[in-house]
Amino acid sequence: MAGEPQSDCLFCKIVAGEIPATVVRKTERTLAFRDINPQAPTHVLVIPHAHYPNAAALAEAEPEVAGELLAEAGRVAADEGLSDYRLIFNTGAGAGQTVFHAHVHVLGGRQLHEGLV
Ligand code: 5GP
Ligand code: ZN
Repeated sequence: MAGEPQSDCLFCKIVAGEIPATVVRKTERTLAFRDINPQAPTHVLVIPHAHYPNAAALAEAEPEVAGELLAEAGRVAADEGLSDYRLIFNTGAGAGQTVFHAHVHVLGGRQLHEGLV
């Protein structure tokens, strides 16, 4: 069923506490934790507890949770003292997605390239 935990999903395992993560924020429906391979001084992933393969699928199925994901991303940035930051949603392997559980990257703390790619 849509949104149900997937036994082969790394981020479902992090939500379940089966794999440790450095959690920075948690709500009933979202979890924010530090990326294991940070690309900037602040690199946090915000994910829904529910499993969807990407952010658009999450927004189609549970738009309120998608909105909460964005709000939480902003709160992560605020907690980190960032006024300037970048949110990234990789969607599909060709765009660099490696974990197929919806997530937004919150990146900041250094000068970010002006281009998009
Ligand atoms: P994607 O490439 O799918 O947009 O992002 C997946 C992110 O998950 C990558 O930035 C990668 O470093 C991160 N990641 C992969 N495995 C783990 C893990 O076990 N723990 C944490 N905290 N991050 C992970
Ligand atoms: Zn999952």
